[in-house]
Amino acid sequence: KVPFDVDLVRRDFPILQERVNGRPLVWFDNAATTQKPQAVIDRISYFYQHENSNIHRAAHELAARATDAYEEAREKVRAFLNAASSNEIVFVRGATEAINLVAQSWGLQNIGAGDEIIVSHLEHHANIVPWKHLADEKGAVLKVIPVDDDGQILLDEYAKLLGPKTRLVAFTQVSNAVGTVTPAQQISAMAHAVGAKVLVDGAQSVSHMKVDLQELDADWFVFSGHKVFGPTGIGVVYGKEALLNATQPWQGGGNMIEDVKFERIRYQAAPNKFEAGTGNIADAVGLGAALDYVTRLGLDNIAAYEHYLLEYATRQIREIPGLRLVGTAAHKASVLSFVLDGYSTEEVGKALNHEGIAVRSGHHCAQPILRRFGLEATVRPSLAFYNTCGEVDLLSDTLNMLRSARPVRPK
Ligand code: PMP
Repeated sequence: KVPFDVDLVRRDFPILQERVNGRPLVWFDNAATTQKPQAVIDRISYFYQHENSNIHRAAHELAARATDAYEEAREKVRAFLNAASSNEIVFVRGATEAINLVAQSWGLQNIGAGDEIIVSHLEHHANIVPWKHLADEKGAVLKVIPVDDDGQILLDEYAKLLGPKTRLVAFTQVSNAVGTVTPAQQISAMAHAVGAKVLVDGAQSVSHMKVDLQELDADWFVFSGHKVFGPTGIGVVYGKEALLNATQPWQGGGNMIEDVKFERIRYQAAPNKFEAGTGNIADAVGLGAALDYVTRLGLDNIAAYEHYLLEYATRQIREIPGLRLVGTAAHKASVLSFVLDGYSTEEVGKALNHEGIAVRSGHHCAQPILRRFGLEATVRPSLAFYNTCGEVDLLSDTLNMLRSARPVRPK
């Protein structure tokens, strides 16, 4: 039983009316970016038509409108994540900038020689590279939580990595490359038990499941607006308030300042202290509208429908001879990652594009996890709540057509 009317929902997304190669667009590249509902497009347009100003509330009427809209968006993010205070919500460009902010502020100030940073084997490059830079710069050690053949975190192995030198555990809640949902609450609690800090990469989770920061208890949680039906160029670092206030800022400039003298500088409290310069005001407001949209639909409804769709798709494509699915975790979200015997991933991507189906083929900025499965690239259809079983049928029909054109040779 589908918990909402998918046809009705689809009408909220103008781009889903596009035709590609003469066929209706099938958007199966949601892990790369999601499409935007009219409500988000309208909200951004409204901002520029009626509210546009820099955010200095007291200056004049439009400044007050822009400031209110921006701060309302911050409150929407707070409510969406169930953070304790909107002071814990810092706007940045996206998940990548968010992780770099933490690495270049807290990390530089708190990681020393011999300290240990733990990441998982599932990570996107955005949650590897900033930590590798930091570790190399400081003489710290980067350790990796291994995964099993289904792409699931090995908690026993993780327990062995934790110790008195562990300063940080940074891991993803959902893998963008193979779809694994990690036991985030448990990983976080185990890190805290040895006194380490926890950063959770929510880039792939916020659009698929309800995130509750009071349960998750992460010290930082990051995501990108564009992967949750909002605009590009806006994202969020959540950080616990006391921790943000105890951390020196990353970038310096206007907006973040209490008082500047050439001899010494005093910063505002979080979040402003981490928002130097004029931010992406309009897109923050657009992100607020996107969160309203998914909240109205209901994340539990979204998760239930996508689970159904993912199972439906998995059953179909698994049957195709010579198709190898990677990422077969018991708990997965909305990503199918596979290779098709006899075809390069580019060939499969092109053939699907010919039918109007958009998927990503490549390494998905997560080379370590693909190499764990002996691969350099996969084809990755990724689903959202506006996708349908009919679209999945078209995907599997096209793959079956490719199979017939080049049958699997008996070994
Ligand atoms: N982490 C994960 C798990 C991701 O999937 C992505 C985007 N593919 C990122 C981080 C980086 O997000 P962005 O490129 O929006 O900064």
